[in-house]
Amino acid sequence: MGLLGGLFDKFKQGLRRTQELVLAPMGRLLGLRRLDEGELGELEDLLLQADLGLKAVDQLMVRLRTEMKAGDIDPKALLKEELLRLLRQRPPRPFLADGTQVVLLVGVNGVGKTTTLGKLAAHLKARGEGVLVVAGDTFRAAAIDQLELWGQRAGVPVIRNQMGGDPAAIAFDGATSAKAKGTPWVLIDTAGRLHTKDHLMKELDKIRRSLQKVIPEAPHRVLLVLDATTGQNGLAQAEAFVQAAGVTDLVLTKLDGSAKGGVVVPILDRLGLPIAFVGVGEGLDDLIPFDPEAFVDGLLDA
Ligand code: GDP
Repeated sequence: MGLLGGLFDKFKQGLRRTQELVLAPMGRLLGLRRLDEGELGELEDLLLQADLGLKAVDQLMVRLRTEMKAGDIDPKALLKEELLRLLRQRPPRPFLADGTQVVLLVGVNGVGKTTTLGKLAAHLKARGEGVLVVAGDTFRAAAIDQLELWGQRAGVPVIRNQMGGDPAAIAFDGATSAKAKGTPWVLIDTAGRLHTKDHLMKELDKIRRSLQKVIPEAPHRVLLVLDATTGQNGLAQAEAFVQAAGVTDLVLTKLDGSAKGGVVVPILDRLGLPIAFVGVGEGLDDLIPFDPEAFVDGLLDA
């Protein structure tokens, strides 16, 4: 099986709940060549249940109606086209090693930030690239321990200071060490308990400034980790993070636990940022680079 075949299977596996609960009942409708008003309404409801978002669903319904005036249609092909068009607006930017690249992970507690960091470390390590993990969430002893465990699993070093220590200081140490050793990747965990935008901004600014003393372009990427099971409900909070933290890419976790996998579409569209990775499980290899084609095929091809 080629790389793309493997990726397609991973997406399919991650989207199984969405498939079973929401998309399977749609199969009959997508196979029709003409749909009456009742069937169009049914299809619209199911697409909304999959959390594809009003915008994508509205656009699709307009297209279905317009094209049916001219003759028979292929609803599944049209749906694929519409979704791809939306997802390709923000194509993922690959993670390429180029000197020492510093990646910050931000997001509220519980979304899967620590797990994602561990999986990302394993992903980069599997490509043969060196990784240093920095335990920058110094407020939760459990988070530091958990990160250390992930570091062991992934086979990459983790640096930490004591609980309650200064995240900016440990970030500085991490960047200094990676630069000295020529380590291509520094992955930094950050605290997720910051409830005010002001507080968040101050803490991230401090980390940013101390990183830039060592590597002026750092951080190269700021990943906002979002939980797919929250669906579109989390979007207002996500928008606040995007503004406060200078987010460059999104990671959507727990796609495997959600029946609303379509949420990828409105999230990308509303936040206006590419999705770098999606989480499809709790294992070390359950983080996959986002690929619009594999995603849409995984969603619609049972
Ligand atoms: P943090 O507080 O944001 O650092 O969140 P954690 O990394 O501790 O994750 C919270 C929970 O979500 C843990 O039980 C993880 O195993 C689980 N989790 C994280 N990512 C995924 C995923 O992609 N799929 C599933 N099923 N569970 C996940």
